Amino acid sequence: MIIFQGENGKKMHKFDLKYKNQKMIITANNPNRKSWLNVNKDSDFPIQNIPFGVFITKEDIITIGSRIGDFAIDLGALHQLGYFNGIPLTDDIFLQDNLNDFIADGRKTWRLVRNRIADIFEVTNGKLRDNATHKEHIIFRMDEVEMLLPVSVGDYTDFYASKEHATNVGSLFRDPENALLPNWLHIPIGYHGRSSSIIPSGTPVRRPYGQTKPAEGSNTPGFGPSKLLDFELEMAFITTDANTLGDRIPIHEAEEHIFGLVQFNDWSARDIQAWEYVPLGPFLGKSFASTISPWIVTLDALAPFRTNNPKQVHTPLPYLKQEGKGSYDIHLQVAIQPENGEETILSNSNFKYMYWTMAQQLAHHTVNGCPVEAGDMMGSGTISGPTKDSYGSMLELTWRGQNPILLKDGTTRTFINDHDTVIMRAHCKNEHVRIGFGECVGKVLPAK
Ligand code: MN
Repeated sequence: MIIFQGENGKKMHKFDLKYKNQKMIITANNPNRKSWLNVNKDSDFPIQNIPFGVFITKEDIITIGSRIGDFAIDLGALHQLGYFNGIPLTDDIFLQDNLNDFIADGRKTWRLVRNRIADIFEVTNGKLRDNATHKEHIIFRMDEVEMLLPVSVGDYTDFYASKEHATNVGSLFRDPENALLPNWLHIPIGYHGRSSSIIPSGTPVRRPYGQTKPAEGSNTPGFGPSKLLDFELEMAFITTDANTLGDRIPIHEAEEHIFGLVQFNDWSARDIQAWEYVPLGPFLGKSFASTISPWIVTLDALAPFRTNNPKQVHTPLPYLKQEGKGSYDIHLQVAIQPENGEETILSNSNFKYMYWTMAQQLAHHTVNGCPVEAGDMMGSGTISGPTKDSYGSMLELTWRGQNPILLKDGTTRTFINDHDTVIMRAHCKNEHVRIGFGECVGKVLPAK
């Protein structure tokens, strides 16, 4: 181990020094920056956000892009016109239908590109601002483009990291006395999901068919469209190439391998889930669809919102022991909008309620030597807060249908009806800046 002498004579590990130096160069986060593009005061996408996504234009051109206010920025065009000169990038890095290669380039490249975009759109920089021809090629209004999946998701894992959620679900599915199983406080519990059904916000979701528990007095299972269709209010993080087969990611390096986060609705059919989940866990009750918000907000953009995760009951094993603030203060909200009706907000939660942090999840995921690739997606698990108005699923909010929720249009819900639209939102806010994720939206269509 190489030890460096840091500030005030404090000893620093080589990695910490590298991280400290990199940290100093996130100039894109400067809260005093203003853009020459118009940004509404309450926008999720000020110049300090600079998220990454993939969009298709009206001319059917697919490109990697970013967003400021309600403008989409074509990074492929910016690159071709020379605006990234001096940053080592391949010619076609942004002319792709996913961000996987860019993500695989690593954190140093993400930082250089994000900082450069911030400079290009800085109010005092006239280079692009005063070049009408270039602007025409680079800048689109958001209503002129369609957002696609930002990454090609190779593998998708979903965790189960909110203690409140695990306690509520354990009470409802099993036994209120022993709601939290003994392993839960020691392991970031997770399962491997299907990446093939991860869809971008706005894609409709078909109510799934499946087997359900036999009715009382019968020994034949039910079969038909799910009657207990639910959402799960989650976030998901997206990784870079992190380790090779047989190697693990040490916890103090874990965040280096996280590119950013999206909102994540892990649609769940509770009746299918209840019948199938013992002994191997979730399967078809979850794998029919998971909706993500289309803009990946980088971990760098979220840096000012770092906060403590809940105090852990047991001291974690050494490979899970994380120093410093392990979480982020991200406000989460979920609403239902009936067809032709007004939306009703069902819950307000926060990412910081997660008991296990992203770094702990990634360290745990790789402790057995399982490789993590660029573009892999890790769901947080449903994020329920401590109070009844902060639960992250209908299962918990209505206590499995016992307490229906009254919507603004006078109808009630125990679970999600056909033609309902589920809307999730997420944002961070301090006295200087608001960094948000936009919306994660999905409308339920009747079973086929
Ligand atoms: Mn889930």
